[in-house]
Amino acid sequence: MIPEKQAAIEAIEAKRDVITDVADHIWEYAELSLQEEKSAALYCEVLEREGFQVEKGICGIETAFSATYGSGRPLIGILAEYDALSGLSQKAGSLIREELVPGGCGHGCGHNLLGAGAMAAAIGIRAYLKQSKMPGTVIFYGCPGEEGGAAKAFMARDGVWRKLDAALTWHPEDMNEVETGSSNSCIQVQYKFTGVASHAAGAPEKGRSALDAVELMNIGVQFLREHMSDRARIHYAITDAGGCSPNVVQPRASVLYMVRSNHVSEAVELQARVDRIAEGAALMTDTTFERKFIDGLADTVTNHTLENVLYENFAALGVPSYTEEEHAYADALAKTYPGSDALSGVAANNDPVLAEEVRQMREQNGHAMNAFLAPLYQGDAFKAGSTDVGDVSWLTPTAQIHVAAWPNGCPGHSWQNVSCDGTEIGHKAAVHAGKVLAAAAIDLYRNPELLKEARKEYEIRTKEGYTCPIPADAVPVIPD
Ligand SMILES: [Zn+2]
Ligand SMILES: [Zn+2]
Repeated sequence: MIPEKQAAIEAIEAKRDVITDVADHIWEYAELSLQEEKSAALYCEVLEREGFQVEKGICGIETAFSATYGSGRPLIGILAEYDALSGLSQKAGSLIREELVPGGCGHGCGHNLLGAGAMAAAIGIRAYLKQSKMPGTVIFYGCPGEEGGAAKAFMARDGVWRKLDAALTWHPEDMNEVETGSSNSCIQVQYKFTGVASHAAGAPEKGRSALDAVELMNIGVQFLREHMSDRARIHYAITDAGGCSPNVVQPRASVLYMVRSNHVSEAVELQARVDRIAEGAALMTDTTFERKFIDGLADTVTNHTLENVLYENFAALGVPSYTEEEHAYADALAKTYPGSDALSGVAANNDPVLAEEVRQMREQNGHAMNAFLAPLYQGDAFKAGSTDVGDVSWLTPTAQIHVAAWPNGCPGHSWQNVSCDGTEIGHKAAVHAGKVLAAAAIDLYRNPELLKEARKEYEIRTKEGYTCPIPADAVPVIPD
């Protein structure tokens, strides 16, 4: 390994306690989307102390921030998340479902590790830039509301990502691998209908039912489903049925819609059709409605050039290793959910030859923690889920890795994840992710040709142009 990378990795090791301490604090804070006040404040404080220039509340989002070091180009962005999920409070390192705070929140998606690992990368890159005295800038982006709020998409609307030469990030998973392929775009809109209450038997003619409007809207969308492309999906939840008294004509009712497609431009068009169905439902029931835009995010644009750089560095650095106790804990945790033997990872799910390779690696590994690097897959891959990393990827070449932080097959957004995310297994994932991202970034700073190639690929893949799913006047909100 070149001495520049070695120095960056040593700088991360030297700050190991700072990084894992932040991961543990964020785990404990477990703040929900767009309410990450303590988490964002902690990052700002630590990054300032580590020599970064911090700008708080960027793009009008209170818990979004940037932390910059260096000057000139290349300009590389490192993306961090730190929001938790409701109802998932859980004791760390436990093998049973045990709430830490009754009814509290928990880091079921490992974003406490995600942010800390991204910070580790930024610390390593800063050490490289400082030592090399070469031009170059790193910006650590604090991106709130990944689980709801899609801050990165709001930041994309404001053009934040456009100035970057590349963006790198990671996500805790059950596999060590380079992520590739696309995902669904997704737009969330809430429709709140208002009618007139009255006695359902005594004066039905005086009532106007908001619940009827919601039901008719849902039927309208049901018919729409026959006339949309196969790649689109529409989901909904009735978030307010107007009360629990059938003998009252419901004066209010709300429904939350989620429109998905693997093309953001199609999702935007489809969403407009759902709006018109809401208008129709209001007309039919003589009610009114308020449309509340919640959030939107784009599909992901893959970048094989950057993925290759990440893979080379991941392969050179290897993967985290575990003590016997850690293996024993993860092996036992894997017995608490179904599917712990399923082959996981993007390579295994998309290519039968690579799947066999992964199967053999798992067999040799012999434990629930996947202590090996999955082979690089660069064919077409698609995940039906959504991420606001997509909006970044439409505006600058973007790539990400997964680092094993959970046992194989561990379900997303589960208490098992929360349990693991608060242990040394989680710490190892965060620190390791930081090292791989920093090492890959150093290659990009040192070889402008790589960035040029990544840009060329990005331009081909995004030639239709970015359709931002966030309206010009929208502000991040939480659905009520
Ligand atoms: Zn999640
Ligand atoms: Zn996540």
